[in-house]
Amino acid sequence: MSVRVRYAPSPTGLQHIGGVRTALFNYFFARSQGGKFILRIEDTDRERYSDESLQDLYDTFSWLGIEWDEGPDKGGDFGPYIQSERFDLYRRYADQLIEEGKAYKCYCTPERLESLRQEQQKDKNAHQGYDRHCRDLTQAQRDEYEAQGIKPVVRFKIPLEGKTIFHDVLLGDVKRKNSDISPDPVLLKSDGFPTYHLANIIDDHHMEITHIMRAQEWLPSGPLHILLYQAFEWEPPTYCHLPMVMGKDGQKLSKRHGSTSLRDFIAAGYLPEAIINYISLIGWSYDDSREFFEKEDLEKLFVLEKLNKAPGVFDYKKLEWFNGQYIRKLSDDDLKARIIPYLRDSGNIADPPTAEQDRMLNDLIPIVKERLKLLSDIVPMTAFLFSDIKGYPAEELIPKKLDAAGTAAILQLGKPLIAGMEGKDDEVLEEEFKQLSEESGYKLGDLLAPLRVAVTGSRVSPPLFASIRLLGTETALLRIDDAAAMLEQNQ
Ligand code: GLU
Ligand code: ZN
Repeated sequence: MSVRVRYAPSPTGLQHIGGVRTALFNYFFARSQGGKFILRIEDTDRERYSDESLQDLYDTFSWLGIEWDEGPDKGGDFGPYIQSERFDLYRRYADQLIEEGKAYKCYCTPERLESLRQEQQKDKNAHQGYDRHCRDLTQAQRDEYEAQGIKPVVRFKIPLEGKTIFHDVLLGDVKRKNSDISPDPVLLKSDGFPTYHLANIIDDHHMEITHIMRAQEWLPSGPLHILLYQAFEWEPPTYCHLPMVMGKDGQKLSKRHGSTSLRDFIAAGYLPEAIINYISLIGWSYDDSREFFEKEDLEKLFVLEKLNKAPGVFDYKKLEWFNGQYIRKLSDDDLKARIIPYLRDSGNIADPPTAEQDRMLNDLIPIVKERLKLLSDIVPMTAFLFSDIKGYPAEELIPKKLDAAGTAAILQLGKPLIAGMEGKDDEVLEEEFKQLSEESGYKLGDLLAPLRVAVTGSRVSPPLFASIRLLGTETALLRIDDAAAMLEQNQ
C-alpha cells in the first residue's frame, strides 16, 4: 500500500514551530517513500476558527516552498479537504454507531454537567468526568427528553472493562485501561457539529491515511481513536507520535522562550532553507555528524527510524547560526533580491531601487554577506549609508585607556590617509595604517576604532575601508571632523 500522510491543522492560530515541524516530517516521509502528502483543514471548532489563521497557513507554506499533493486549494480524489464541508458524513457515521448500540444520545443540560463537575471538584476521590447518566436510558425516557425539545449530543460508549493497546512506531505499545479513558466522550455536539475525534477518525479512514505523525500531546487521544476504529471495524493507521519540542530550559516551547510563530521568523529575516534545515533536526538526526540538509536531501533521506525518543530542544542561537550559514551560501544576486524588501520597508531605498542605489547594492552585498545573521540585520548595519549618524555618544569614539584629547589626535592622524584612499587596495591601506601605528606609537586597533565610529556611528560595522568607499570619502571626512568637534566639546 502506498504511503499517504496528512497535516491536519486547526486554523485557530498562527503556524508555529511545532506545527511546521509536524508538517515537514509528514512531507519528507511522504517524499522519501514515494507517497502522498495531504493537507486537511480541521475547522470543526468554529469559535476559535479564524480566516487569518487559514491565510497564515497558506502564506507560510508557500514561503517554505512546501507543497501538498492534495488539499483544499489543490483538489484530489478524496475531497473535500475541509472538515466543515464534510458534516453530512460525520452525522451519518454517528447515526450508524447509535444504531449499532456503540454510541448514544445524551440529553444532559449544560447546567447538570456543570453542577456535576463542581461536585466532583469538591470530592477528589469521586469518579471524574461524565457520569454516563444517559448511557442506558429506556426508550420511554428518551422519548420524554425528545418531547421536551432537548437537543442531545452523541456520546461514544467506552467499554467499561478491559484495556486498549495501540502500537506507536517510536514509543512501542501504549496500553490504557478502558476505565481510565475519559467516560464517553462527545462525538457530535448538540448543533450537529462533530468533535475532533469523530471527524479525525472518519477522515483519516476515508482519505486512506496510512501513517499518523503528530505531536505527542495527541498521545492521550490514541486509545479513544483505536476504540473508534474498532467500533467502525476499520483498520487503524500506523501511529508515530513525535518527540516534544522544548525550550532550552526543558519546558515545552512557548512564547516565553521567544517567537514561536513562523510569521515572526519570516519578518526577522530567516531564510526558508535555514528554517527547514534546523526544524528538521528537532527530534530527528541523520547521523552524529551531518547537520546540513537541503529540502531535496531530506526528501530522500528522511526515515522514521532516525527519530529520537527524547524531546528535541529548540535553540534560537543555533537557528540563527544556520541562517548565517545559508546567507553565505547565497549568490550575491540572490542575497540582493532578498534584502531589498528590508531596505525598502525601512525607507532607505526606493521601490524599485534607483540606478544609483542598485549600483550601491551591488557593492554592498559582498561586504555584508559574511556578517549578516538575519536579513533584517541589513537595516541597522547599513543605516550609516542612508542617514545622518549624529546622536551617538562621544564616549563611543574613545578607545580603552585613551582620553578625548588622544582620540581627537588619532582622528587627525587618520584623516590624510582616508583623504588619499582613492584607487588604493585594502592591503595598501592596511600597510599605510600599520606604518602610521609604528610612527605614532598608537596601536593599530586604537587608530582604526575611532575612525570606524566616526564614519559609521557604531563600533560594529562592515569593514571600514569598504564602508568609506560606499559612503564616499568626502562624507567620511566631514563625519570625522564632526567627531573631532564632538571630542573637543567633551574635553
Ligand atoms: N487538528 C489537530 C491539530 O490541530 C490534528 C491532530 C492530529 O494530527 O490528529 O493538531
Ligand atoms: Zn447525559
